[in-house]
Amino acid sequence: MLKKLTQVYHPTTIEEACKQLCEAKSAVIAGGTAEALKKDDTIETLVDITHIKELNHLSQDASTIKIGATTTVQDIYKSETLKGISGNFIKQVAGTVAATALRNTITAGGNLVAQLWWSDLPVAYLALDAEVVCRTGKPKRTVSVVQIINDTPAKFLKKGEIVAEILVPCYNKGTGCDFRKQIKTHHDYPTITVATRITLKNGMISEARIACNAVTSTPFRCQDAEKLLVGKKPTAENIAKAAEKAASSIKYREDFRASKEYKQEVFQVMVRRSLEASIEAAK
Ligand SMILES: Cc1cc2nc3c(=O)[nH]c(=O)nc-3n(C[C@H](O)[C@H](O)[C@H](O)COP(=O)(O)OP(=O)(O)OC[C@H]3O[C@@H](n4cnc5c(N)ncnc54)[C@H](O)[C@@H]3O)c2cc1C
Repeated sequence: MLKKLTQVYHPTTIEEACKQLCEAKSAVIAGGTAEALKKDDTIETLVDITHIKELNHLSQDASTIKIGATTTVQDIYKSETLKGISGNFIKQVAGTVAATALRNTITAGGNLVAQLWWSDLPVAYLALDAEVVCRTGKPKRTVSVVQIINDTPAKFLKKGEIVAEILVPCYNKGTGCDFRKQIKTHHDYPTITVATRITLKNGMISEARIACNAVTSTPFRCQDAEKLLVGKKPTAENIAKAAEKAASSIKYREDFRASKEYKQEVFQVMVRRSLEASIEAAK
């Protein structure tokens, strides 16, 4: 719990929030489902960003889906705006996050920044090559999601900087995506989460993405395995080689739910099946 918490700000503009975050021992709170449970006894001030209208939006045009940081996961899941390959994929993944009551609270930005091993949307963002707009008041920088995830958001974001928006490219015919997670019961934490994306051009794989979580401690892109697919034919042999590489190139998170050996074997099968499904969808 936040034992030293003495004040909560409710700014209505990004500029105001970023200024308040420059105060010592302050932190952002959005949905609060992770922040409120933190055992951080240094935090004295919380900056609640859910009253900033500019951060709560969801739109899609021909090239990009824009997800405001405080958009709830339920709003994404139930959106009638999101369509097409990327839109339907993001909706599908959002629908697997927790249960309805929690989805009404968890925000897109909080889900990305908290970066827990069971976080689902960051895996989809990695597969879709999303970008993240970070704001320090008016100044902003747009960075690739893989950069912010690899650096960890806590280290990547500067003092007074927030995630304002997630930008997801819209893919067209010729691209297929797949998401799957292994979970013992709907309300347990997952053991393995996998997302893949394949783009085919003239019968060859022109782009491949393989992302995972839960088997790892944080969301991860299996770039060595992806490289084995690019420029190749989508044959069973090539898919199997990439799945084997993915399974042999990650650092497995220890967990009482399953041994490393079990996870490695099942992860390899899940990556293979996910790639097969993405390829089928891309045809
Ligand atoms: C019982 C339970 C089950 C869950 N199951 C799942 C699941 O199956 N899949 C899944 O993906 N998630 C799941 N979650 C949600 C996940 O664990 C996190 O709690 C959630 O993603 C955090 O989002 P939030 O909006 O509540 O963020 P908060 O708790 O408000 O914040 C989380 C962190 O991000 C920072 N932060 C928030 N927004 C921003 C921003 N815009 N800019 C900069 N920093 C920011 C905060 O300072 C804090 O450090 C579950 C949560 C619970 C409680």
